Amino acid sequence: MAKWTINDAEQLYRVKRWGGGYFEIGSNGNLQVTPHLKNPNVRIDFNSVLEEIKEEGVQFPVVVRFHDILRSQVALLNDAFRQHIQEAEYQGQYLGVYPVKVNQMREVVEEIADAGQPYSYGLEAGSKAELLTVLAYNTHADALTILNGYKDEEFMKLALLGRKMGRKVIVVVEKYSELLQLVKSAQELNIDPIIGVRSKMTVKGRGKWESSGGDRAKFGLTNAEIINAARYLEQHNMGHCLKLLHFHIGSQLTDIRSVKEAVAEGGRIYAELRHMGVEMEYVDVGGGLGVDYDGSQSTSDSSRNYSMDEYVADVVYGIRDVCDLEGVPHPNLVSESGRAMTAHHSCVITPIMGEVTASGMDFDTTYREGEHWLLGQMREQVELLPSADNLQEIFNDVSQYKEQALDAFKLRVISMEELAKIETLYWRSCRQISARLKELDFIPEELRELEVGLSSQYLCNLSVFQSAADTWAIDQVLPVVPLTRMNERPTVNCSLVDITCDSDGKIDQFVGNEGLTDTLPLHPLKDGEEYYIGLFLTGAYQDVMGDMHNLFGRLNEVHIFTDDDDPKDFYIEEVVRGSSVSDVLSIMQYNPDSMATDVKRVIDKLIAAGDIRPREGVKWIDFYEDCLAGYTYLKR
Ligand SMILES: *Cc1c(COP(=O)(O)O)cnc(C)c1O
Repeated sequence: MAKWTINDAEQLYRVKRWGGGYFEIGSNGNLQVTPHLKNPNVRIDFNSVLEEIKEEGVQFPVVVRFHDILRSQVALLNDAFRQHIQEAEYQGQYLGVYPVKVNQMREVVEEIADAGQPYSYGLEAGSKAELLTVLAYNTHADALTILNGYKDEEFMKLALLGRKMGRKVIVVVEKYSELLQLVKSAQELNIDPIIGVRSKMTVKGRGKWESSGGDRAKFGLTNAEIINAARYLEQHNMGHCLKLLHFHIGSQLTDIRSVKEAVAEGGRIYAELRHMGVEMEYVDVGGGLGVDYDGSQSTSDSSRNYSMDEYVADVVYGIRDVCDLEGVPHPNLVSESGRAMTAHHSCVITPIMGEVTASGMDFDTTYREGEHWLLGQMREQVELLPSADNLQEIFNDVSQYKEQALDAFKLRVISMEELAKIETLYWRSCRQISARLKELDFIPEELRELEVGLSSQYLCNLSVFQSAADTWAIDQVLPVVPLTRMNERPTVNCSLVDITCDSDGKIDQFVGNEGLTDTLPLHPLKDGEEYYIGLFLTGAYQDVMGDMHNLFGRLNEVHIFTDDDDPKDFYIEEVVRGSSVSDVLSIMQYNPDSMATDVKRVIDKLIAAGDIRPREGVKWIDFYEDCLAGYTYLKR
């Protein structure tokens, strides 16, 4: 077999293909991060990150955030718009917003708002809680605050408060009745709103979120309603307030064609409104800019067949061309990319806690006087294997013997020890057959399935429901890679299982060389040596959508900043502690203090009765309290 190289590891794990320029396999076999695309000299080795996390005494699993990646992505998108606007001699400006629902963590929103300062990059909110959040953040004076989602009177008043505060708050009307509410509130408070209308476009995005567009979309006004809205505002002397046309045809648009079509349709609606005399100033193309999770650059659900640059060019040139043909001014351009801004910046790191195999432990199968005939038959097949060329026939035979043995056991014909021997021999033969499959020109279906049956399950110290909700809910594929040892050949075919008591708590879809695979080759576990894997591109949605299945709470977080002068090129700026057991119990209405008191009362009784020594009793009580205050995940 040829020597394993870093190149082979790259072929297998495709780090460069999904890594967005930020991740790479180092020559030492460790995963490396270059958070500044423009400064590749700042290079962080994941092994140093692991060491630092341990030194800080932070328990795994851990979410690692690279704040510089957030900054880089904000710059990348804004620079792309600026460049294409200049090249296209486009007359409007780009005034993008970050939709906070994609990752509402304060540190994330603050970092994006700060990185966006030079670009007048704003924020988008889709609910009252998000609106309260974005109002408190003073972004650049020219930056937009865009409000989507269903709204009530309070929502409208908050938006108008934003106007009073001097902010460019734009209320996007999603439903006709909202317009009436907004006009009413604006007239009562005597504040001019800036109004947008969301179009229920006929073009549908392709991908998992395609129902965001089209006739049955939940949001948006029909063309008739948009025209009526413009007339209604005119009648109420508020025609000058209508400034923005909005559309959002879905998240993770996999095919660039749907972007082009939406831009063409939206551009026409904008132009028609202009022709009607409405002084529209903005066209907001919504979100949807995809992330290539599986590195295939295809229209598969977890990928996209275009780059960020191509997307931006299609928006700028698409709107420009419609406007030039229609003879209307170029509007300012707005986009609401959340996924593409945040996905790369965070990952979840977990040690592998153990291995689960179907075959379990090996068992001594040597011949014993008087053993059952079936056992002898089985042993004979296994002995034939090394020189046999009829692998499928042997597989059929051993499978049948194993089934017969189970019947025989139930009928009290063979003992449990004999059954254990037969099962052990069965798995040994499966392993031998599997090892020889390469010799075959054609691998029959059953034998191919054997591979999956023989694969290991690596136990990850995390809950899929908390940390990677979309892998469970919508089969989102997230890249999984070992953080070290990629200079060694990975010899164990694995799927991943989490520590919840739910058989759905697993990851068994991986980025493979020819599409998706059920298993991922990882390295054999070594005694006394930790093996860590990372789940990548979790910064969009996954970070904030998780639930507390089995009462596993939020993860510890480590925020990493780069520092060119530091020997390791980084420092941990902040550790945010995840949920304690007490925290999650309190959310479920328990009272951890009184629970501790109840346990103490029982122990005190045992002490009084002389069943437990007082010193030992105190230790048990302290232990219970420590666990309440502790992390919800497994401890090493
Ligand atoms: C969710 C959402 C976004 C963000 O979409 P991404 O695909 O994550 O960029 C933008 N706008 C609206 C209206 C949304 O609902």
